[in-house]
Amino acid sequence: MNIALIAHDKKKKQIVNFTLAYEDILKNHSIYATGTTGKHIEEATGLKINKVMSGPVGGDQQIGAMIANNEMDLIIFLRDPLTVQPHEPDVQALIRLSDVHNIPIATNLGTAELIIKCLERGDIDWREVIKETKKDN
Ligand code: PGA
Repeated sequence: MNIALIAHDKKKKQIVNFTLAYEDILKNHSIYATGTTGKHIEEATGLKINKVMSGPVGGDQQIGAMIANNEMDLIIFLRDPLTVQPHEPDVQALIRLSDVHNIPIATNLGTAELIIKCLERGDIDWREVIKETKKDN
């Protein structure tokens, strides 16, 4: 599955700890991340990360385009709700597209913990069926 990992600056430590804790699950998937988040994860783990641009200069939109193209299966986006983000419209657009296309998205660590366990159990395998069906049509 294609999984996107994104974290606002004050959540970078959280996402690094999360990826360290669940590296064994994540290593079986294709991981994408916005630039700075990806760099931090690469430095801390052995995961190979497909890095897009940094979020504020277009990375969130690049992940959004992957969602629109049916190329993203799961998103963990640890947002910082207490700091104003210059690229808030891009953040909203990404979340909106996840809702449009029914892509599971966790925007906080509590939900991220649930989603990663669902991923491990195969609860998100329906995404493979959707991808195949859309490809055929
Ligand atoms: P970054 O982007 O990983 O490049 O910091 C994340 C974001 O703020 O959207």
